[in-house]
Amino acid sequence: MQLIPHQDSPRYIRLHPTDNVGVVVNDQGVAAGGQFDDGLTAVEGIPQSHKVALVDIAEGHEVVRYGEVIGYALKPIAAGSWVTEQVLRMPEPPLLDNLPKATLKTAPGEPLEGYTFEGFRNPDGSVGTRNILGVTTTVQCVVGVLGHVVERVRKEVLPKYPNVDDVVALSHSYGCGVAINAPDAVVPIRTLYNISRNPNLGGQALVISLGCEKLQANQLMDGDQLTNGMDEEDWLFRLQDSGSGFAGMVEQIMAMIEERLKVLDQRRRETVPASELVVGMQCGGSDAFSGITANPALGVAADLLVRAGATVMFSENTEVRDGIHLLTPRAASVEVADALIREMDWYDRYLARGMADRSANTTPGNKKGGLNNIVEKAMGSIAKSGNGTIAGVVAPGERIRGKGLWFCATPASDFICGTLQLAAGMNLHIFTTGRGTPYGLSMVPVIKVATRTQLAERWPDLIDVDAGQIVSGRMTLEEMGWHIFQLYLDVASGRKQTCAEQLRLHNDLVLFNPAPVT
Ligand code: CA
Repeated sequence: MQLIPHQDSPRYIRLHPTDNVGVVVNDQGVAAGGQFDDGLTAVEGIPQSHKVALVDIAEGHEVVRYGEVIGYALKPIAAGSWVTEQVLRMPEPPLLDNLPKATLKTAPGEPLEGYTFEGFRNPDGSVGTRNILGVTTTVQCVVGVLGHVVERVRKEVLPKYPNVDDVVALSHSYGCGVAINAPDAVVPIRTLYNISRNPNLGGQALVISLGCEKLQANQLMDGDQLTNGMDEEDWLFRLQDSGSGFAGMVEQIMAMIEERLKVLDQRRRETVPASELVVGMQCGGSDAFSGITANPALGVAADLLVRAGATVMFSENTEVRDGIHLLTPRAASVEVADALIREMDWYDRYLARGMADRSANTTPGNKKGGLNNIVEKAMGSIAKSGNGTIAGVVAPGERIRGKGLWFCATPASDFICGTLQLAAGMNLHIFTTGRGTPYGLSMVPVIKVATRTQLAERWPDLIDVDAGQIVSGRMTLEEMGWHIFQLYLDVASGRKQTCAEQLRLHNDLVLFNPAPVT
């Protein structure tokens, strides 16, 4: 990365030697006539995080950022011009049928030994970073009653059990009025199944059901040790079985919750190796700095996690699609590369059914932040994956079955991606943002990373890490990666709470349901 110093003078960043555009760094942008240190003159005003043409680009020629073609010039672009969406034609996504598979052997680096955190060991061997009771629901119909119960439990009961962090209703809008036997219904159903088994929930089965709904409780509780040896009435409460109205329901559910709180309260943190971390990475409200500061810093930290033997996942299909040719070579095997291609292909067809494609991803905020199209956004997004080998792939709603860097296929929607990463088994979440979002989840700590110092300073109580320090030269990318790695261990141990945790900012679980509703 070429960093041009001097705080006040016009500055841009060029990420790759073959790039013919740079990203303007200055907070206030660069005015027309402003001269960069290399002699380039801005021919018009260019806002911060937007692109400046570094050379004359002829009509039809490639516009290159990250060493990749992000578009073709629709008209001649003079050196020093603002490169906007209006002057670019977006490239087609890479074809899926002739990609290099598992051709790149990356050296992971020396194993990182001796890094630990304080976690809650679960009966199934996984480790939680928080000690939370999750109450599974089969259908939206129960959410009002359960919400009332959870509110009372938090006030009246939870203070008696100081070793339990929280009680969370696993509420969602699925369960009835849906084509439950449609092939794609497997996605929301296995998501709910696996979320109930998230490592932060301590292995306590409790399901609240209405009774007449399509999604029956045994579909969410079959076949593992969560309900092993328990009678159905010990882990399931059906509202329609209640003989004494709302008050009776509340009383019975509160009693079932308290039984579990007694068990969870006996648990204590123990020292476990860093390899027990399962970190889910995503971004939201991205800007052109996302791919320069925050996401590459996560990439450095991801490489460190892999060297420590941990699990780390990246996601967001529509932000991976245009960089797939850079990812399939990094697959651990041809089978893993094929799985990546399978997920991209499935998603292409899913979008096509709705008469859309991956370009539907970009938001007005992304564009205001200097991201012209999904190709440019994708190149920045996949920087989160670092440089390592992709060890495996899980489809939406599946749980990860190994260590290392995984691709967890999800939509890019923040809440749906977070929900599917919970199902994949994450016990810690990290989220990068350029435009800013107060995003948080109730089941895992969410570390938020700003791409720009300006955002971190405007929102000091919402942003945990200022990755903008990479641009200002106060920290190197490498230093920021290590800082984030250490923060993972501190937050996982409960030594530090994230901003979203302190403020109890929790977004809803949002299921991905590609199947029809009825
Ligand atoms: Ca996202």
